[in-house]
Amino acid sequence: MAWYDKLAIVVGMVLFMECFAWATHKYVMHGWGWGWHRSHHEPHDGAFEKNDLYAVTFAVFVIALFGLGVMWEPVWWAALGITVYGGIYAFVHDMLVHQRFGARWVPRRGYAKRLLQAHRLHHAVKGKDGSVSFGFLFAPDPARLKRELAARTER
Ligand SMILES: [Zn+2]
Ligand SMILES: [Zn+2]
Repeated sequence: MAWYDKLAIVVGMVLFMECFAWATHKYVMHGWGWGWHRSHHEPHDGAFEKNDLYAVTFAVFVIALFGLGVMWEPVWWAALGITVYGGIYAFVHDMLVHQRFGARWVPRRGYAKRLLQAHRLHHAVKGKDGSVSFGFLFAPDPARLKRELAARTER
């Protein structure tokens, strides 16, 4: 395989995973998978939350893909793309937004700030239903999200 084929697979998988994560978050985690995700929307003292089981599940799946990739190279690069997405997700969602693992960086401008605000607004709604902004890397305009939230509470 040429290097640009590998790069295309990795970049393509990162983009695909954002769509996949958005759909999973909206329809599974805030649907029948709420039992695990709920812990992420409630305050707690422990370092870990039940929601982390989603990360564990994905990790097991990716390890299996790497195993398959030994036999078929494109699958190995796809698994790498998912791993890259997982790394960006852990950085943006867990460290930047939720300040886990001792992270203390608060962005004051630019896209990082927008990401932070968009996900904070996801957490503005308590409970399973009526949340906004389910993506992690694609952040909608916070002003628009606020209007959406306000319209919902009026109803
Ligand atoms: Zn959520
Ligand atoms: Zn969160």
